[in-house]
Amino acid sequence: MLPEFIDLVRRYYKAGNEDFIPLHAPIFNGNEINYITDTIKSTFVSSVGPYVDRFEAMIRDTTGSKYAIATVNGTSALHVALHSLGVGIGDAVITQALSFVATANAVMYTGANPIFLDVDLDSMSLSPVALERFLIDECERKEGKTVHRSSGFQVKAVVPMHTYGNPGRVKELQNIAKNWGLYLVEDSAESLGSYVDGKHTGTFGTIGIFSFNGNKTITSGGGGVLVTDEDSLGKRLKHITTTAKVPHPWEFFHDELGFNYRMPNINAALACAQLEQLENFLKEKRKISELYQNFFEKTNVWFKAEIKNTKSNYWLNTIEFPSKHERDLFLEETNRNRIMTRPAWNLLNTLPVYSKCFTDRLENSNFLSERLVNLPSGVPWKK
Ligand SMILES: *Cc1c(COP(=O)(O)O)cnc(C)c1O
Repeated sequence: MLPEFIDLVRRYYKAGNEDFIPLHAPIFNGNEINYITDTIKSTFVSSVGPYVDRFEAMIRDTTGSKYAIATVNGTSALHVALHSLGVGIGDAVITQALSFVATANAVMYTGANPIFLDVDLDSMSLSPVALERFLIDECERKEGKTVHRSSGFQVKAVVPMHTYGNPGRVKELQNIAKNWGLYLVEDSAESLGSYVDGKHTGTFGTIGIFSFNGNKTITSGGGGVLVTDEDSLGKRLKHITTTAKVPHPWEFFHDELGFNYRMPNINAALACAQLEQLENFLKEKRKISELYQNFFEKTNVWFKAEIKNTKSNYWLNTIEFPSKHERDLFLEETNRNRIMTRPAWNLLNTLPVYSKCFTDRLENSNFLSERLVNLPSGVPWKK
């Protein structure tokens, strides 16, 4: 199967035998240079400028959210989202063990404690069954609060992540969060262009965030965005991501703890040019995913397809091996042949910073982390 796979990828990317095929490289075939040049000529390269406003309007349009606030990166967006909801010291935030480290780091920056629960095998995202079981078995409602019994932490929020762009069961999570008085904050960093029942990911929770890092579906160099439908939050998030300065021609009065988290105009220019191409990128990425899906149908490897009623952006196409051994052989051979593939992240609870955090049994997470591989998924750069 391996030589055929290598051949398939090389042919798809029109790459020679010596060319390196990355996991997900950005491509700039649109208005990128024009818009960036424009910011330089205008001198408005920093944290105010027309491209920031334009990008935020485009994100509102793409996601259907009432408010969009552009930030310096996705991690800062998630941090300020949790901060704005009053998450802090003595609190706990429930998230999934199978995620990029930024999800947990954002929780830690607030002073709160991450709790890592299991994911579903099919979506690879936070499991509603695991969430409900944890809340019933380990937590109690007390004076309108949800308290984790053994630690005394107040559970304030649930942060699911749509893994590799494949949407999770966010409606079920939303219901459970509501029943327990918890905020739902979606880490949609990887899922721009992914939908559940026709509604964009990131718009089910109180706040959603996206990332525009260089390896994501579209990039602004570095960047992120917050989305929300709540008027008070939309206004406050804009305020506290811009140092909480009260507008005044010369006075510097900041009315609460603020953050310097606004996206610079030069990055927003790049973001606008990239977002204009999103539909095309998504179409190309779907073609790649269909190619892989067809290829692996005839093998003992499981392509991780979008689950029922969802649409994945297939940010990183992912396959599951029957065993760790077979997974490792595939990783070695593909990378030796200059085709970049990589395993799932180490589970967050195994990292030194998070080794003392509460978890459930993480059965599916452990299973997946030994068997998953991400495949080259970027839009072809040669035409
Ligand atoms: C990329 C990513 C982020 C945010 O990343 P930044 O590099 O800070 O923009 C957050 N969570 C997940 C799951 C991600 O993949």
